[in-house]
Amino acid sequence: MLTLKDYEPIVGTQVLDELKLLGQKLSGKIVQHINSTAVGGGVAEILNRMLPLLKEVGVDARWDVIKGDDKFFAVTKKIHNAIHHSPTAVTPEEFDILLETNRENARNMDFPGDIIFVHDPQPIALVDLKKELGKKWIWRCHIDSSSPLIHVWDMLLPYIQQYDAAIFSASVFAQTLPIHQFLISPSIDPLSDKNRPLPREQVNGILDNFGLDRGRPIITQISRFDRLKDPCGVVEVYQLVKKYTDCQLVLAGGGAADDPEGEAVLAEVREKAANDPDVHILLLPPDSNIEINALQRGSDVIIQKSLKEGFGLTVSEALWKETPVVASAVGGIPLQISHQFNGLLASTIEGIAYNVRQFLHNPKYARLMAQHGKEHVRQNFLITRHLRDYLLLFLAMEYPNQDFVLL
Ligand code: UDP
Repeated sequence: MLTLKDYEPIVGTQVLDELKLLGQKLSGKIVQHINSTAVGGGVAEILNRMLPLLKEVGVDARWDVIKGDDKFFAVTKKIHNAIHHSPTAVTPEEFDILLETNRENARNMDFPGDIIFVHDPQPIALVDLKKELGKKWIWRCHIDSSSPLIHVWDMLLPYIQQYDAAIFSASVFAQTLPIHQFLISPSIDPLSDKNRPLPREQVNGILDNFGLDRGRPIITQISRFDRLKDPCGVVEVYQLVKKYTDCQLVLAGGGAADDPEGEAVLAEVREKAANDPDVHILLLPPDSNIEINALQRGSDVIIQKSLKEGFGLTVSEALWKETPVVASAVGGIPLQISHQFNGLLASTIEGIAYNVRQFLHNPKYARLMAQHGKEHVRQNFLITRHLRDYLLLFLAMEYPNQDFVLL
């Protein structure tokens, strides 16, 4: 099992000493995370790694997943899309499904947390319990909420306002709210199976097993099959690149338990790919961390052509592996990529294709960008920075109006 000590060669001793010091001040406090899926997507990815580290520094961290049926997840997906500004109507009757499911979960769950840390809109209405239970409540929005559809945001507002604080991943996502707001970006764990170094032979073996030809360029997008990740747009990018360069495309993704749209999107992608033998659509089970790691390492270019994005962990994952990334400048992606410094950004299919070709045709330039990318992630998007931000947040919640440095 990994411990904080294992991170020392990556982030240095001082960072770890500070984490331990902050953790001591929270020793024994129960922080209860609540979200809607244990597997798939960025939230589960982070919680899986964050919990053991919180525990190691002394916080009694726990994680509960709310339950819901297909109707509930169909509604919450609509709400998710509406926060991302996708034209989606959510009716009051549909919102009632969310409320009723939240009430049912509230009846069936325990709430031992001193701090209750609710992720995203699915469990948002649990905060109604605050009147009865007290405690500190934090709402963490992982979605790009810079321009939510107003009718949906207005449905959520009476709940958001009951929290003690809201957290957003980027400053542009912040809203006018009567509660405290914090900016905390997500992170990746450099030592998880998804990100740890892999021997070249293992990477090659995995690429071979997927039927990829290592002699020709491989361009890859790793994402749930979700329209907002624009997998069909990625196929079009590939088709443009392919006119000039004989390359292969990998679209690798699985579903998330709280995302009901995956199958329909997958069918659209398959139709678009039209049986091209160089388009590899890989449906990966949730525990495919080593496989994703190998694909991110073994690809010549990683694409993240999202139309909307909360943060886009896949970008930092690829940058950390020094693989060149071409992405769209949406949501949290520009926090991770500065154009022509550590990656390339574009907003159209033609622009992304042009950038992919720049990297394929100029490997020296691609390598330089990728090296910058790794350092940018080391400074800003590793789990140790994220842990520090959370500890400081919990201290701010537990000791309001106090200078906790003097505790
Ligand atoms: N991921 C995965 N399997 C897949 C697709 C994605 O494990 O089939 C991981 C991916 O490596 C990343 C996370 O799920 O760690 C997705 O996070 P991101 O922020 O990119 O997107 P989200 O799915 O949260 O919108």
